[in-house]
Amino acid sequence: MRKIRLFSIAAMALALAVAAGAVVVAQQTRPAAAAPAPQAPRAEGLTPAPNRAAGEGLGPFKTLAIRGVILIDGTGGPPRGPVDVIVENNRIAAIRSAGTPGLPLRPNRPPQKPDYELDATGMYLMPGFIDAHVHGGGAPKNPDAEYPYKLWLAHGITTVRGVSLADNAMTVKDKERSARNEIVAPRIFNYQRPGGGWDQGRVETPEAARAWVRWAAQNGVDGLKLGAERPEIMAALLDEGKKLGLGSTAHLGQTGVAQMNAIKAARLGLGTVTHFYGHFESLLKDYVVQPYPVDQINENEYQRFGQVARLWDKIHTPGGPEWNAYLQEHLKLGTTFDPTMTIYSAGRDLMRARNADWHATYTLPSLWDYYEPSRSNHGSYWYYWTTWDEVAWRNYYRVWMQLVNDYKKIGGRVTTGSDSGFIYQTYGFGTILEFEMLQEAGFHPLEVIQAATMNGAMTLHEPKGKNIEFGVVREGLLADMVIVDQNPIENLKVLYGTGAIKLNDKTGKAERVGGITWTIKDGIVYDAKKLLADVAGMVERQKKERAK
Ligand SMILES: [Zn+2]
Repeated sequence: MRKIRLFSIAAMALALAVAAGAVVVAQQTRPAAAAPAPQAPRAEGLTPAPNRAAGEGLGPFKTLAIRGVILIDGTGGPPRGPVDVIVENNRIAAIRSAGTPGLPLRPNRPPQKPDYELDATGMYLMPGFIDAHVHGGGAPKNPDAEYPYKLWLAHGITTVRGVSLADNAMTVKDKERSARNEIVAPRIFNYQRPGGGWDQGRVETPEAARAWVRWAAQNGVDGLKLGAERPEIMAALLDEGKKLGLGSTAHLGQTGVAQMNAIKAARLGLGTVTHFYGHFESLLKDYVVQPYPVDQINENEYQRFGQVARLWDKIHTPGGPEWNAYLQEHLKLGTTFDPTMTIYSAGRDLMRARNADWHATYTLPSLWDYYEPSRSNHGSYWYYWTTWDEVAWRNYYRVWMQLVNDYKKIGGRVTTGSDSGFIYQTYGFGTILEFEMLQEAGFHPLEVIQAATMNGAMTLHEPKGKNIEFGVVREGLLADMVIVDQNPIENLKVLYGTGAIKLNDKTGKAERVGGITWTIKDGIVYDAKKLLADVAGMVERQKKERAK
């Protein structure tokens, strides 16, 4: 999501839409304007996470043996095992057969006396997940970085691409603290917006763009988070970034997309298209800009987010020649799609998003307040969300999902990003919802896991000219792994912190199964349930604070 300063819309005569136009067609329905002018968004402060306390995570160990586990390695290969995965310090040292399915595990398997042993018999092990689109939040919604960090790790996310996570100084600091395992947090890749972090003003010329990129490369930035920049600026940013080994991802927002849609950006060297912005605008059939209703104003977020969905039937036929040519060109250019379908999903079913199982225990009241309808909070555009809006979004998702799946089918790279912390999507949970939505789009769960692991790692490492260091469970790579006691291929829901509902036929009662058991980051073993309990404690504390 991207914060945009709201100016007063109280003066706008939106009421006429309600009076005269509301019944014309769905795309012209409008709520009445609220009377008070919105507050300008406050500067968002994010308190750095406290140092890792004794007992928070075990290890790294000279030798850690994970016994009898079924391995899903992240490359797309089938589950295999049972195997023992041996970790030495923070590296995967060996993957060895532990027996044959249906027979007892082979006895006396080396190493005989590891420093630490996890009995993972019958469990499933995957590479740690990579969330390729995150923000760390901040006051007023979640003041503490500890909150998203622990929710991410509790959901198996061992690497995040912050776009941005926080301002550059804090992100660099926490990236380094995480790399040293001084804090309980995933690995952090630091992507910043043009001009982010330096004190030389806005980037408004190609020369300034190049100067900022050079500054960024020297100041702990791993990549560029771009908008739909002006063509000459976009070209300068991407060209300079490429020379210096910086990655790039772009949210091609509506204000600039007419000049910089996804195919134009990819031709300039953009690495990742995040969200959907820019795709459909590249495929418009009868227009070169979206045919907005007459009273569209971008800063009215109900209009902005409501109208996006109305693009679904303004484009060339899905699966048709223009559609296929579009995807083929991206494939040739090597574009990564990071759809973040999860973050807009409330649009197709607001009630589901508001009533998700996890809110009561794991969503901070202050974050909840942020989600609720508001003209000033970004992404809280539920001034009056209608059946028309949900139907438009459902249609939109059908086409969007086909685009993502068709790209996968021809060999295009898709990654998993969440953008949680807005629109009723709470950190960690929102990422697992993205997994489910990719399956809905047509991905096999093995393809989902590949997107969430190996694909993410390749996207983060390629710009640096490096081979992947994590993202696959393979000897020699960093020991970032997820272990769950249920089969994620059978049901991705078991990856939610709240698990999945299952009838226990012995008791006749419904119970919750799953939730990640252990998340291993850099050879350190975290009890995922304990991380969740910590988060539940933060929520509880804030509730008590408020009750005073
Ligand atoms: Zn975002």
